[in-house]
Amino acid sequence: MVNYIFKDKYDEIVKIGKIICLARTYKKHAEEMNSHITKDPLLFLKPSSSVIFNNNSIIIPSISKCLHHEVELGIVIGKKCREINQKDAQDFILGYLLALDITARDIQLEAKKNGWPWTIAKGFDTFAPISKIILKNKINNPNNLDLSLKINGETKQKSNTKNMIYSVEKIIEFISKIMTLEKGDLIMTGTPEGVGEISEGDIIEAKLGNLSSLKIYVKK
Ligand code: MG
Repeated sequence: MVNYIFKDKYDEIVKIGKIICLARTYKKHAEEMNSHITKDPLLFLKPSSSVIFNNNSIIIPSISKCLHHEVELGIVIGKKCREINQKDAQDFILGYLLALDITARDIQLEAKKNGWPWTIAKGFDTFAPISKIILKNKINNPNNLDLSLKINGETKQKSNTKNMIYSVEKIIEFISKIMTLEKGDLIMTGTPEGVGEISEGDIIEAKLGNLSSLKIYVKK
């Protein structure tokens, strides 16, 4: 598995670090999951070994009967930081990307019921398809970007990052109070409403505005 993702503005290869994921960052998605909005977003980690790139395939694990798609904005960290105030957060961002947080929903529901972590539900190989990075100077406002996802040509998710409860800058402030962020770390900012099942043979097409797109296949 390739564990580098992008080139920075000096054309240097940046290795993927930790992948920090947020949950309950869009009100309508929390509602469709019968979850409530918490004061702060929920956090969990995905292993970097779950990353795949454009035109690759999600492999359905034999122990899950129900995989879900979640389209998300990814933030890539460009400089080591901790305890950052939101007003300084942009200084530490390298860029953005389009990410899918693939979830074994049946395993996650079981985990939720039992108070177990989501590591298995979220951590299988191929469960983090990501696009190439878009350097931050190419994006005027990360808090106003269209996000969409189609399965076999049919639109399933369509929203905008302006519907996120927390801004990109606030997210950096929040996470950097908990853990040091390092160059190459990737934050998946959570999904809007419209999540649903993916099956063998499906073709997933996702878009981040007109800036980036992903085409991903689903296999057994
Ligand atoms: Mg998610």
